[in-house]
Amino acid sequence: MPVAIDKYQEIKTFLDAHKVSLIAVSKTKPQEDIQELYALGQRDFGENYVQELVEKEAALPKDIHWHFIGHLQSNKVKYIAPFVYLIHGVDSFKLLVEINKQAAKNNRVISVLLQVHIAKEETKFGMDAEELKAAIEGAGGLSNIKIIGLMGMASFSDNSKIVQPEFGYLNSLYQVYGKIKTDNIDFAVLSMGMSGDYQLAIENGSNMVRIGSLLFGARNYNK
Ligand SMILES: *Cc1c(COP(=O)(O)O)cnc(C)c1O
Repeated sequence: MPVAIDKYQEIKTFLDAHKVSLIAVSKTKPQEDIQELYALGQRDFGENYVQELVEKEAALPKDIHWHFIGHLQSNKVKYIAPFVYLIHGVDSFKLLVEINKQAAKNNRVISVLLQVHIAKEETKFGMDAEELKAAIEGAGGLSNIKIIGLMGMASFSDNSKIVQPEFGYLNSLYQVYGKIKTDNIDFAVLSMGMSGDYQLAIENGSNMVRIGSLLFGARNYNK
């Protein structure tokens, strides 16, 4: 499928009106697709796989903001630490410490979001409320990271009675921890909502959505 230019413009207009940022999720999609949205002014792109991200970053314009939105293994942080703009899926304190270490090696401060497990499904990654609390309390002294908010993925369901409370729960945590201001904690981003649920996410306080298939078409993982 070609890039859905009309859909992009429509979504962008809607998001701008609600002051919500758009991460165009380009995982598995060719560089030409990214170039197409880049030409329209899109600068924030999301990727899930380290190797794929590293290749795209090397080939594409340098003013792109690369968001890592997948599950990140500690031993791979070093490959993206030189350039990554925001890491959304920080789901353990161990990973936070490793990002801090690699950021320091690159003389950078890397912005991160802590991922909270909000879905009913066991398979989705993220911290529970206790782990989140511990990570925030433990973050003092990690001077090469900045925790700027939370990220979550709701259950894969089109039943808003299931999805809405999950978004509402994440927003309540965002409100609580958003009150904390330290040298490296200063919340500004609540990253929730994808192609199927972004409107509901925005109604529940999201200010950053990650949209892939609505823009680039369904993904084919078997190519
Ligand atoms: C793939 C992915 C998305 C985009 O999903 P779509 O349903 O295609 O919009 C958003 N967030 C995360 C974390 C993803 O892995």
